Amino acid sequence: MILMEEPPYSEEQFLNSKEEMDKLVADSLKGRKEPVNAMFGKLSEIAKALASGTVTWSRRNSMWPLQFGLACCAIELMDFGSARIDAERGGYLLFRGTPRQCDVMIVAGWVTKSMLPEIKRLYEQMAEPRYVIAYGECATCGGPWWESYNIIKGIDQVLPVDVYVAGCPPRPEDLFGAMMKLQEKVGGKIVENKV
Ligand code: SF4
Repeated sequence: MILMEEPPYSEEQFLNSKEEMDKLVADSLKGRKEPVNAMFGKLSEIAKALASGTVTWSRRNSMWPLQFGLACCAIELMDFGSARIDAERGGYLLFRGTPRQCDVMIVAGWVTKSMLPEIKRLYEQMAEPRYVIAYGECATCGGPWWESYNIIKGIDQVLPVDVYVAGCPPRPEDLFGAMMKLQEKVGGKIVENKV
């Protein structure tokens, strides 16, 4: 003969268990402002933040300068590519011959009024977002040719400049520093003064 043990709950309690569980869940959620699917909402925010962080990181670490020079500062630009400076360690030597694959314009040398339309066209052909470094006194403010009839007083008269490099000529090390500053700006570490 098998003795059946009494069940720990009555039939009525068993039938009402779902109802009780729903009540417990409802009680535990009382006073909470977040919706039940908050976790999924947050996951999407995390995914968005990760995606935007990845894009910024990639942009900051893949600066592709346009390969061109205008005057004596361009000689220093060439030195920037030498083993002494070793700009490759920063990943800065991907100079491209086409503006469509570049996002950094290094204006190295004076800008004559006759060259200005060509430089502007190159800038407009570059991929966005694009950045400009004014390398040397001539590109910054006209330099020794401040009062010249055919040289403009700085490339920032026509293009938005992100980093200025002083010197006549500036040292290639300064360009390395300018690229690092630009990386900080692209990465969001430098806050621009809004006038
Ligand atoms: S800043 Fe000096 S070195 Fe550079 S392009 Fe002008 S004159 Fe030449």
